[in-house]
Amino acid sequence: MKPIGPIPPAFAGQRRLTIGGEDAEALVARAGDTPLFVYDLGLVAGRVDLLRTALPPGVGIHYAIKANPHPELLAGIAPLVDGLDVASGGELAHALAVKPAAEISFAGPGKRDDELAAAIAAGATLNAESEGEVARAIAIGERLGIGPRVAVRVNPDFELRGSGMRMGGRASPFGVDAARVPALVRTILASGAAWRGFHIFAGSQALDSAAIVETQAATVALAARLADEAGAAPPLVNLGGGFGIPYFAGDLPVDVAAVGAALGEALGARPAVLADSAFAIELGRWLVAEAGVYLTRVVDVKDSGGECFVIVDGGLHHQLAASGNLGTVVRRNYPVAVAGRMGETATRTASVVGCLCTPLDRLADKIALPEVAVGELVAVFLAGAYGATASPAAFLGHPPARELVVGRGTAGPGGR
Ligand SMILES: *Cc1c(COP(=O)(O)O)cnc(C)c1O
Repeated sequence: MKPIGPIPPAFAGQRRLTIGGEDAEALVARAGDTPLFVYDLGLVAGRVDLLRTALPPGVGIHYAIKANPHPELLAGIAPLVDGLDVASGGELAHALAVKPAAEISFAGPGKRDDELAAAIAAGATLNAESEGEVARAIAIGERLGIGPRVAVRVNPDFELRGSGMRMGGRASPFGVDAARVPALVRTILASGAAWRGFHIFAGSQALDSAAIVETQAATVALAARLADEAGAAPPLVNLGGGFGIPYFAGDLPVDVAAVGAALGEALGARPAVLADSAFAIELGRWLVAEAGVYLTRVVDVKDSGGECFVIVDGGLHHQLAASGNLGTVVRRNYPVAVAGRMGETATRTASVVGCLCTPLDRLADKIALPEVAVGELVAVFLAGAYGATASPAAFLGHPPARELVVGRGTAGPGGR
């Protein structure tokens, strides 16, 4: 038997799974069918509140929408946060539908000219990833007769320790190497474009609070050093984020109160060149992962070679990360439960496998489960981030998952 990750606190004590106060079966009936992602906006709002309480006053919270760009969820999150960070022209269009352009920033290497033009025309901030991108943005701005708003994404000379995905301290397609940033800032200022500051993102999926604290302090120091060298104070310093989620057995949540207190100290002691700068952090998964549950129905239960397989109508085509095929080295189990039997004792060891005709499609490997029959619902937790849009939905020709937003500020039926 192998362990599963911790079931998020909002669901952990339940006997039958409810999301946003509604029974899982009722939610499936409302959406029309399984497989179904349910997102509880009330839980997202709770995360934003928790973070606001923890962070020093005035530090902005940005949502990185690639974690979950579902339009209704995005419309619910937009008024709760201070900014939206996008990484494509498509995401830019989604964000512009729910947030003023001045509160949108656009990162990502390989922005095409038409994407740059759309951002400049709208008045969104470009987090420029290279000298070449800045040159193209200035030229496009001249053609359009609109001064671009440009921040410089910095490839920091350090990385976020313990980060699941390191983004700094090495050769990288992301950002401009720190040593070349001051010269680029001077180029932007000389062009007459609006320089918006720095974007410094050092890593992702970090659970080590001390490492996050250390990285934030290093990020403030780096921003100050670059500003001094450039001879200009940044209007905004986006400190990145990287707060992780406890996906696996033994993982513990980030201590956001400790991180916020330490950031307050770092900002309180910041160098004079940053005295008038605004600060923000940008988070994706930390805000939305726990608010999402993927519901899939048992199609078959079978034995083979002495092992039990619970076969469901969903799979990695909707929830790639739970199968261990989205950037993990060792496959470990996400939290999974039989929705109608959360309070029951385990009676067997079974693997939950998806319906795709590939051995990669395993949602849970040899976990303890109660009795479970054909027709029952299995819940895969932590499905609110990097689920539906980060999975190969077209692989094998099954239909896409349905998606339903519940909780605060949402009403009425509506799948998809
Ligand atoms: C993906 C991304 C994020 C969000 O990362 P999470 O791990 O989901 O918090 C934030 N900033 C940038 C620049 C990103 O590319």
